[in-house]
Amino acid sequence: MNLPVAFLSRISTQLGIETEAFLQALKAEPVTSVRFHALKANPENADFVKGEKVEWNPNGYYLPERPSFTADPWFHAGAYYVQEASSMITALFLEPERYDCVLDACAAPGGKTTLLLDTLPESTVLIANEVIKSRAGILAENLTRWGNPNVIVTNNDPQDFSRLSGLFDLILTDAPCSGEGMFRKDKDSIKEWSPENVAICSARQRRILNDLYPALNSGGHLIYSTCTYSPEENTQSVTLFLEEHPDMELYPLVLPREYGMLPVKIAGVENAAYQCFPHHCRGEGFFICRLRKKGEKTEVSEVESREKNSGGKGKNKDKKFGNFEKNTFQVTEFPWEKWINHFNPRCIKSADEYVFYLLPQVEAVLARIISLRVIKKGLLLGKIQGKDFIPSHELALSTLISPEVPGINLPCKTAIQYLMKSDLDNETGLEKGWILAKYKDVNLGWIKIAGNRLKNHFPIHWRIRNL
Ligand code: SAM
Repeated sequence: MNLPVAFLSRISTQLGIETEAFLQALKAEPVTSVRFHALKANPENADFVKGEKVEWNPNGYYLPERPSFTADPWFHAGAYYVQEASSMITALFLEPERYDCVLDACAAPGGKTTLLLDTLPESTVLIANEVIKSRAGILAENLTRWGNPNVIVTNNDPQDFSRLSGLFDLILTDAPCSGEGMFRKDKDSIKEWSPENVAICSARQRRILNDLYPALNSGGHLIYSTCTYSPEENTQSVTLFLEEHPDMELYPLVLPREYGMLPVKIAGVENAAYQCFPHHCRGEGFFICRLRKKGEKTEVSEVESREKNSGGKGKNKDKKFGNFEKNTFQVTEFPWEKWINHFNPRCIKSADEYVFYLLPQVEAVLARIISLRVIKKGLLLGKIQGKDFIPSHELALSTLISPEVPGINLPCKTAIQYLMKSDLDNETGLEKGWILAKYKDVNLGWIKIAGNRLKNHFPIHWRIRNL
């Protein structure tokens, strides 16, 4: 591994006598780890060999070797997320019961969003945002796989959130950074590294934090993280942000020492942040710090009236994401009460041909973010097509879908054929209707039975092309 001289010089100042151990650790193989979806999959049924558990996450496992995830049907079903182990520590910084509305501001591809969703109750609404359009699409796909109904995905610049005064009780800023912590895993990050890029990243991080600051409710928490070691992007970004915002304070947390995360002191405060180095901790490089906005939490109704007074013209004129004035959908064809766990008929909303299941708290937040570019909201149930209703892939993968919906477990080879979008022979004995394709009891998507053929409704743009 050829590391830039300027990086070596800085890291040896930073680590002193530990530099050699750090460089040795970088020569080792990167660690592969996954986090299982507790509501979907039993880790014991996974096709790959699991190693030790990740100490700080009940659903996290190290894998002794990296399998072909593409060839594993569970990967496509959201049965687990391939996530770097050290970043799973983020969940320990949450106080879930405090948060009505959460923003994951730099969310793609969605590792930490899915982690937050595992920890937060369904009453919390999570907005997962990504500024780069193509990455926002990948984020929406990964959140469709994870299946929670309390999520909204947006595609906005952090500055677009500055007018949503005090809306969020928690903002996670997993900031774009110089990626030093990924050197072992992603060799391109070494090529892209330079002292100039570190300075650019640091300035961008401060801008992002300043843009998001007005949207944080008083009493709310801000978690700032990066996957780099550079003090310029970590402690310095936090220190400068604190200097500019005297109503923000560090909000330390003491982690068990055996996790191997090194506590970092900022502005004289012990355990203000943690840094994960690969020679101490089983994972890639990571930095995390928690802050708090002073004061008591402002209740939602006050925020709402402030929002209304500040006006705001909606950009969401798109019929799929517009408001639901024309609620014309008749709940007839599908036995929704049986199909959706804890079904509430008032949550069914239609906008022209699209039908959604929107929890009241999600709808309330949507009403307050009309200026944002929403690309996914709540649970899309399906689409009305003439006289037919086509259930959505989102519904098949949703955590709300009931186990009573008919389905068939496919053997691995057939499951892969299904994920490649081949039609299958009908060996079910059923003649008509919608059923779920499953692999080891986890839903993969829809099949429509039509005589002796099973029509494959797996989304065409998601299909496996190469194994
Ligand atoms: N939180 C993600 C996860 O756990 O999967 C990883 C986020 S990654 C470290 C940082 C993200 O910030 C990237 O998706 C990147 O596209 C986005 N980003 C890049 N420039 C940005 C900017 N100027 N403002 C906000 N986000 C930006």
